[in-house]
Amino acid sequence: AAALLEAVRAVVVEHEEELGRMDAIAGDGDHGIGMRRGADAAADAAAAAAEASAGVDRLLIQAGEAWAEKAGGTSGALWGSGLIALAHSLGNRESYNADDALAAVTAFSQAITDLGKAVPGDKTMVDALLPYVAVFSEHNHTGAPLEQTLSAAADEAKSAAQATAELSPKKGRARPLAEKSIGHPDPGAVSFGLIAEGVARAYQEVLNGNGVKA
Ligand code: ADP
Ligand code: MG
Repeated sequence: AAALLEAVRAVVVEHEEELGRMDAIAGDGDHGIGMRRGADAAADAAAAAAEASAGVDRLLIQAGEAWAEKAGGTSGALWGSGLIALAHSLGNRESYNADDALAAVTAFSQAITDLGKAVPGDKTMVDALLPYVAVFSEHNHTGAPLEQTLSAAADEAKSAAQATAELSPKKGRARPLAEKSIGHPDPGAVSFGLIAEGVARAYQEVLNGNGVKA
């Protein structure tokens, strides 16, 4: 889990400026820096928890709390509560299967829609998140291995994020500047797609045994 959060941090750092520019179009321009602060704090907290031999749930709860606290902004609160819900879903067991992973991403998604109350079409991260969970679930039901499920769901999240360009924002700071936002994708949806892709890639690397431990 700490390795996956390290991958999240790497993706966010790589795209920090681009996410900031995207948020500046119709928002306040802080999505890059907010996500970077959150992902940094979460990866640090996870590393410290791993060092202290914390279980999976404790590690992810500490990461979620750190993310929400350090990121500030709407997306920070949402990512923090999502990670904490994911942690509670996983609990602390010897091993996890693909169904456990589906339950965990479902809990992540549910926490974000419960807290933010965004629905599909509002032009938020939810427009990438719900298609992600849907494809995750479909692949799981066909018995696909987790690495394929993660990668197919990430592809779906990335294209769904791009498709938010045509939407007009109904939630969050971008709403008053709706006109400016049309033609540009929602930053929170784009960052979710990038993170999903980073997690899929990192999981594949874990499987390949490239020195990192899940
Ligand atoms: P802030 O809006 O506080 O400046 P950020 O710029 O970090 O926070 O994040 C903006 C992103 O948060 C938006 O692009 C959108 O995806 C997401 N967002 C905003 N409000 C909501 C909500 N109610 N539900 C889900 N996502 C939301
Ligand atoms: Mg912002």
